[in-house]
Amino acid sequence: MHDNYSKVLLDESEMPTQWYNVIPDLPEPPPPPLHPGTLQPIGPDDLAPLFPMALIMQEVSTDSYIDIPGEVLDIYRLWRPSPLLRARRLEKALDTPAKIFLKYEGVSPAGSHKPNTAVPQAFYNAQEGVKRLTTETGAGQWGSALAFATAQFGLECEVWQVRASYDQKPYRKTMMEIWGATLHPSPSDLTEAGRAILAADPDSPGSLGIAISEAVEQAVQRDDTRYALGSVLNHVLLHQTIIGEEALLQLAKVEETPDVLVGCTGGGSNFGGLSFPFLREKLAGRMDPTIRCVEPASCPSLTRGEYRYDFGDTGQLTPLVKMHTLGHSFIPDPIHAGGLRYHGMSPLVSHVYELGLLEAEAIGQNECFAAGLEFARTEGIIPAPEPTHAIAATIREAVGCRESGEAKVILTALCGHGHLDLGAYEQYLAGELEDFDYPAEKVAEAMARIPVIA
Ligand SMILES: *Cc1c(COP(=O)(O)O)cnc(C)c1O
Repeated sequence: MHDNYSKVLLDESEMPTQWYNVIPDLPEPPPPPLHPGTLQPIGPDDLAPLFPMALIMQEVSTDSYIDIPGEVLDIYRLWRPSPLLRARRLEKALDTPAKIFLKYEGVSPAGSHKPNTAVPQAFYNAQEGVKRLTTETGAGQWGSALAFATAQFGLECEVWQVRASYDQKPYRKTMMEIWGATLHPSPSDLTEAGRAILAADPDSPGSLGIAISEAVEQAVQRDDTRYALGSVLNHVLLHQTIIGEEALLQLAKVEETPDVLVGCTGGGSNFGGLSFPFLREKLAGRMDPTIRCVEPASCPSLTRGEYRYDFGDTGQLTPLVKMHTLGHSFIPDPIHAGGLRYHGMSPLVSHVYELGLLEAEAIGQNECFAAGLEFARTEGIIPAPEPTHAIAATIREAVGCRESGEAKVILTALCGHGHLDLGAYEQYLAGELEDFDYPAEKVAEAMARIPVIA
């Protein structure tokens, strides 16, 4: 490799062919999901109305590696391996001795990391004879990824999109329709869960928690239908580890190891996907990066939420999972990083955080958009609002290096582009973007409604 490279590429033949499961390498396993009625750990059969058995077995797997099916690899190769970027122009603008690397997932058809799991989820459902998938989406990244993936396997796809994003981001809707999906703004009057919310608040901006309730309610009503979740669950984080496995190979090519790894966390999937293979290396003593989650100040489940059993959705249809939560009835303020507006956090990321293997920080959206703009003006790529959180944290770290003189290697996930989020940038440029404070009162109210489990 020449010295002034700006991206590190892998050949298609170098693409990893297995996903990595971090659970067997952890000092202790995460607590099991509980049945909300019996409060006993749920078994695979309890999840069968929602997911195909292959995904349920991945959800509870204790194997360290799982082979990626050939059909999935064939579709991954449409855009994978994804590039590892070296942000030299940003480094220069910040006058930092740090080296900044970004694993760029915006090269996928949907423009984010989400197809890494949408494709295998559609594959396993199709293999088990499922005809229709329902799902929720926030900003529309997950809905469009699943619409793309279901189109590859001839499945129907029905998407409940959080109202606030449905109104802010009309082109995501068109994208989903191009790939053949059907869309509903959430809350909708098509489901009991949606109607209950609308009765209480006809102008509800919606939330991921509400949209999940609607999609789950629809999935369990039909035998030929299952539900697909774009984040949070173990099998989703598993599929996303292709990001970190590739990044490890790419950094090895340029003989670098990260000192700091940061990623934005909504439900934890792009972060887990990038960081878990590095955590494996850390636990094995082969490197020692600081690994840090970055979340929005207005929806800070890790830094301000409690580690408790709670529902994954507002309508209380999901199993109880132990996670960092702000309360399943908490409806976050309508920040532009729609993908980060979730009341909970992946149980696996929450568990690893509790084990003290991760750090977390929360940043407000104006600092994030400022970072996104600085990145776009130096490196060219316009980041999605979600990864501007990771970029803002990267810039904080790189500025720290300028002050301390340390030449740290920083790795982050640029998990999506912002081509369909220009409305948010427009508001930022007009100086009209609101920084929502931490909504202490709303959170306290929601926390009081969490079931108390001894
Ligand atoms: C969905 C999404 C997120 C948030 O989800 P995670 O599971 O935390 O990754 C972040 N960034 C982008 C671009 C997304 O599409």
